[in-house]
Amino acid sequence: MKIAFNQATTLESSTLYDDLRYCEENGYDFIEIRIDKLKEYLIEHTVEELKQFFQNSHIKPLSFNAIEFFIFQPNTTFNLMKEDVRLVEAVGKEIGCDLVVVVPTFDIGDITWSAIKEETSKRLYECLTLTEASHFRFALEFVGYPHCSINTLDGAYEIVKEVNNSRVGLVVDCFHLYAMNSNLSLLGEIANEEIFLFHIDDAEDIPAGVIRDHQRVWPGDGVIDLERIIKLLQATGFDGPASIELFRPEYWELEPNECIKVGKEKTELVFSRLQLKA
Ligand code: ZN
Repeated sequence: MKIAFNQATTLESSTLYDDLRYCEENGYDFIEIRIDKLKEYLIEHTVEELKQFFQNSHIKPLSFNAIEFFIFQPNTTFNLMKEDVRLVEAVGKEIGCDLVVVVPTFDIGDITWSAIKEETSKRLYECLTLTEASHFRFALEFVGYPHCSINTLDGAYEIVKEVNNSRVGLVVDCFHLYAMNSNLSLLGEIANEEIFLFHIDDAEDIPAGVIRDHQRVWPGDGVIDLERIIKLLQATGFDGPASIELFRPEYWELEPNECIKVGKEKTELVFSRLQLKA
């Protein structure tokens, strides 16, 4: 299974310019580019430079992360998010990337599940209409926090089924599966082509419903049954890549090159236990 790097892992310690270099040096296959890091990069660099980098490197762009909290927003706020969609669509066209992650909103109050589904579908359709010409794709990432409006695999999958468009799929993130006790056996029923991204990570030994992003640990160092998740995904025909995504302040203390190196080594160890080739 190929390995990707998600820039959240070096969120506070690095830049897109450096992450690209270090990931290439460490033999990564893909990178997930954070939209904030992309905007920062474009202050001093150009899209052409980014395009040239990918043309001359092994590493390729996998996705943009993320249009955050895109539901139950006032129209003006959502329209600004559409500007970000346009930005990544335009940059993606140049660098060969057609995928952006969308993250649901937290703390929406007493709103029914039916209303959440309706609102999410409506906003996703708007994104699809906006990008009709480019066929840009949208990966819905549920967040395993009790106060997130879509917080289980079951919920996210229900919405993807309802939208029923090949340009809308799922992000399967091991931490989020664990963090709200999602029904893992459902992974066996999801079609390979409906899984747009797979985030690999692990978690401290803290119960579901209480654990938070800063308690993510390197793949293999925590309590999540990664082997079961990977085997279930593989049974559907899904073959990666696995994208390393940590949000751990302790890892932001590391030199970015070291962090990027360790992440790959840890993931390869998990793969070797599963007799998977990286
Ligand atoms: Zn994730």
